[in-house]
Amino acid sequence: MFKKILIANRGEIALRIQRACRELGIKAVMVYSEADREAKYIRLADEAVCIGPAPSAQSYLNMPAIISAAEVTDAEAIHPGYGFLSENAGFAERVEKSGFQFIGPTPESIRIMGDKVSAKQAMIKAGVPCVPGSEGELPDDPAQIRKIAKAVGYPVIIKAAGGGGGRGMRVVHTEAALINAVQMTKAEAGAAFGNAAVYLEKFLQNPRHIEIQIMADKHKNAVYLGERDCSMQRRHQKIIEEAPAPGIARKLIERIGERCVAACKKIGYRGAGTFEFLFENGEFYFIEMNTRVQVEHPVTEWVTGVDIVKTQILVAAGEKLPFTQRQIEIRGHAIECRINAEDPYKFTPSPGRITMWHPPGGPGVRVDSHVYTNYFVPSNYDSMIGKIIVHGDTRDQALARMRTALGETVVEGINTNIALHRELMVDAKFMSGGTNIHYLEEWLEHHKR
Ligand code: ADP
Repeated sequence: MFKKILIANRGEIALRIQRACRELGIKAVMVYSEADREAKYIRLADEAVCIGPAPSAQSYLNMPAIISAAEVTDAEAIHPGYGFLSENAGFAERVEKSGFQFIGPTPESIRIMGDKVSAKQAMIKAGVPCVPGSEGELPDDPAQIRKIAKAVGYPVIIKAAGGGGGRGMRVVHTEAALINAVQMTKAEAGAAFGNAAVYLEKFLQNPRHIEIQIMADKHKNAVYLGERDCSMQRRHQKIIEEAPAPGIARKLIERIGERCVAACKKIGYRGAGTFEFLFENGEFYFIEMNTRVQVEHPVTEWVTGVDIVKTQILVAAGEKLPFTQRQIEIRGHAIECRINAEDPYKFTPSPGRITMWHPPGGPGVRVDSHVYTNYFVPSNYDSMIGKIIVHGDTRDQALARMRTALGETVVEGINTNIALHRELMVDAKFMSGGTNIHYLEEWLEHHKR
């Protein structure tokens, strides 16, 4: 087992990984930007190294600084967390070339999955169902593009091969709007992702977002850890996640889970990964794979009893998965609310000093957050300041616990989206389960203030 790991991230996930290291008796080296110098998890770290000024490009995305931090501290492995460099194949490669273990899949797997066109092609080959669409990248010839769109049927969605974080997508309802939309998406994708390739898919009207968590080791073992429903989204950003997905038959989950496991074995995948699907009329359609730990991993941890972050570290060290598929059982129901420093209805970011932080507690409540009273939320990074996760024997009990937890939570000094979560937890449609990916935006439209 490793003696020392460097954590190349910040905020709640850096703290989450630090906790896993402590449990495993591994020393954790934290890296930080000047904006995060005062953070408690940095102060409490075994070792901490400043890697640059506040802007991510000069710190959390600064590969040479991170690798030299690992060198000077004698770390053996690097955990990238999520976001930042976690899905950067070039980074994984540099980490391994410098003699460290990258806690994640091989650079090759990251590269295939990072390009949505090659990811989709790999999935089709592995027998995972995909959204009908263009076979690979769209050609330049407008006549050919029109032909492809016609065959798929309108509405269609144009997506950047290199897209991510809900960016680089455009829905097209009519042939008249098609070519212009393709050209605009291409131009944006080229500028934003350095890759102008785009592809086309059928735009599903009312799907749910269902994803399968998998875990694989270096010995060709792979297991799926059930599903998560992440349909509560705004601008393609998830805000509430739950496991299991309400109202979907276990048989269907098992069938798709087995396909994901087979695909992992076929591509030699290792580590944690998530297959994201749209789910409509009883069918799953693959949209992308995330080759890292996800923000919403705690809901899966709670219903399966598996510690995903610890398992990531174990398999990176070469150990076999400590569980088999038959040992994975889904128990009860878990819900996560992402707490963001933002206006609850206008969504403008609200960085600044937290003058009062009072997190909830009690049975079935978990809070993953790095913040505290007097913590300063920097304006340089993502607005998420933590997550409240609850578990109950049933979904109704989990909902009741979430309402209690949100009721107990006090955050002063900045705005947060807690007020929005409180309203959603008593919304009749959400409470009955199974709302689709448009539900939250429609709800916001009807509850304008
Ligand atoms: P990203 O990597 O940017 O998150 P995804 O491919 O995962 O992109 O898509 C993000 C979201 O966009 C999905 O959760 C869904 O809400 C919407 N979306 C993507 N593809 C389609 C599609 N074919 N039909 C309808 N909605 C889609």
